[in-house]
Amino acid sequence: MSKLRDIEGRLHECGLRCTEPRRCIIAALEKGPRTHAQLLEKTGLDRVTVYRNLRALQKAGLIYRVPIEGSDNVYVLCREGSSFHAHFFCERCHRAYCLEPGTFWLTGTWGEGVDRVLLMGVCPQCR
Ligand SMILES: [Zn+2]
Ligand SMILES: [Zn+2]
Repeated sequence: MSKLRDIEGRLHECGLRCTEPRRCIIAALEKGPRTHAQLLEKTGLDRVTVYRNLRALQKAGLIYRVPIEGSDNVYVLCREGSSFHAHFFCERCHRAYCLEPGTFWLTGTWGEGVDRVLLMGVCPQCR
């Protein structure tokens, strides 16, 4: 169950105001990864509002967009207070997971230019 105060706190931590659309989007994502179309349906918000708020939440590192080839992007809510981390997308159940920070990382000069890491494969539940 999503508690309003938790959502508000997370938004404030990221320097964002807690607006109704953001609250609705986060509440919908707390139940699992969603596509833009699913978020439209769940929140009842209009297309542009969802799009704009997803971008703001993404920029703040609160959510992550999983680009899926030949299909709609999936948005996933990142775990609370987690620093930079990689994501895993399961190609079988189409779920996206936040991995523990430091699970997968490049060191040295390559690492400096990385702003997101996405791993794809089959999740433990589907194996
Ligand atoms: Zn994440
Ligand atoms: Zn899976």
